This record gives sequence, structure tokens and C-alpha cells, in this order.
Amino acid sequence: MKGQFRFEGRLIPYWLHQLDPQLAHVYEEWLREKLPRINRLLKTDPDLGYDKKNRMMKPEIAIENFWFEHEAFIRNELEKLVPHTPDENPKKRREVIEQALGVEKNFVREVFMAYSRWIKEDPRPLVLWDIDDTMGKAYGSEKWKTRPCLPLLLEDLEQFYPLEMGIDSDRTVRETQFCLGMEIGELTTEEQERFKFLTHGEMGEIQKYLTSDQIYCSRLEEAAKLDERIDLLKIPQEYYEKYSLGSIDKIRIILWLTQQGKNVKAIDDMDFAKIKPQDNVFVDRETMMPRFLY
Ligand SMILES: [Mg+2]
Repeated sequence: MKGQFRFEGRLIPYWLHQLDPQLAHVYEEWLREKLPRINRLLKTDPDLGYDKKNRMMKPEIAIENFWFEHEAFIRNELEKLVPHTPDENPKKRREVIEQALGVEKNFVREVFMAYSRWIKEDPRPLVLWDIDDTMGKAYGSEKWKTRPCLPLLLEDLEQFYPLEMGIDSDRTVRETQFCLGMEIGELTTEEQERFKFLTHGEMGEIQKYLTSDQIYCSRLEEAAKLDERIDLLKIPQEYYEKYSLGSIDKIRIILWLTQQGKNVKAIDDMDFAKIKPQDNVFVDRETMMPRFLY
């Protein structure tokens, strides 16, 4: 866990404030310092933003704070991301940008609300993020686009609701490492063809929020290795009739981690939602993914 605050010159992992009353006090002070701007905005009591019982920032305030700090930046990023067309209608383009900002707000809200529920659970969950159609999108002849709220959102989550975060993707490990900007040596000819819509380090900004040994990929060689360990899990036959193989591979990883005693939560797209409907976050294409990415 990289989230840390300073106490008596030492860097302390954020989550310790929930165990130690003295650290809880320091953490509360730190939050207060962060909160005045938003509290002035809301014209509320300075204590209102802090949930004393659970020793954490209230999610409604975390969300308000996020948009107060970052809305202008994210709007500006969208201006750059939304493609220009030759016969462009400025009014239409404005609508696309506003729609995208609206769905970023839905996404940020859903994730903050989920983290604020999960952080109270025992054991503390491991949150596994999907990449494609969740963190962003690669499509057609276009390059990958990370949704603009993502790096800022992960930064705030790490500060306010520090949970271990990893990846559960149906890409390959090398593809995932490539996108995260990790060094993977020469690409094979076959990889050069498959990776041509990807950019080395396109998601490099988010790598620092992830626990490096909690990156799971269900495709190809990784799935074969997992098979040895998870064949005993007995995936119900009807899954194979109802769901995509990518989703089944992911659920196998989650079931295997659950057997190791991990409390796993998923942030994933709607294809996966059909298979794991419990308390997770699912990115609905209509309401939580910017339209210009489709
Ligand atoms: Mg996906």
C-alpha cells in the first residue's frame, strides 16, 4: 500500500489510522486540512465531512471535493480526447463533451460509494479492476484512451479509502505490463500485430496505485498455468452456455483467490456483471462510459 501520511517525521500507511486512536487523530487533522475548501463551499460544519464512527471521510464529501478540485481539468482533458470531425458541428461536439463529463461523474460516484462500503469490511477487500471497457477503451483503428478521471480518482481512493488494488483482465500478462509501462523486452512479430492499437505506458500513470503481485490475466499462457490450480473449482456447466469465455476465466481467478481467503471485489464491465452480481461496481455502457469511446 503506497498511501501514506506523515506523523512525527515518519511515513505511516493510511490504513493504520483505523487501528490506532493516536494515528486516527492525526489522520482526522490531515483530513480537516484537506476539507476547508469544500466545507466553505457547502457552508457546513467543518466536522461534517468526517465519519467519526468509521474513521473515514464521508463519501458524499469525497465526491464533492473531487469535482471541486478536478472538474475543470477533466473537462479540459475531454476537449482534447473527443475526436474532431471534418464536418464538425460545435454545438454537437459540446453535447458529446458534456455527456462524457456526466458519465464520468456517475462513474466516480459509484466507485467512491463502493469503496466507502468496502473499507468497513473484514477482511479488507482486494479490489480488482478490469481494463477494457472499464478503465478506458481501445477501438477500431483508434488508440487506447484512458478515461480522464481515472488517475485522479485512484489517487483520492488511495488517500481516503485505502484498499489493495489490482487488475483482473482478460488481456495477457505481457499486454497488461506493456500498457502499464513495465519493461517487457522485445515484442514478438505476433505481439507487434496484436499490440498495434496499444501504446507502451499508456496507463503508466496508474501503475503506482496497484499492488504489483495482484495483477491477474486470464488469457493464453496465464490461463493455462491457472488451470492446474483451479480445475477443482468446478465451474457450473451452465456458465459456459450463458457467459463469454473471458468472463468465465475471470470468475475462475476470483474463485481461486476467494479460496485463498481473499475478500475480492470487482470493478468491471456489464458482460462480467451477469456472472458476479454481488456487491461490486459494474460499468454500464449507457450511463457510465463516455459515448465518444464507442
Ligand atoms: Mg472488460
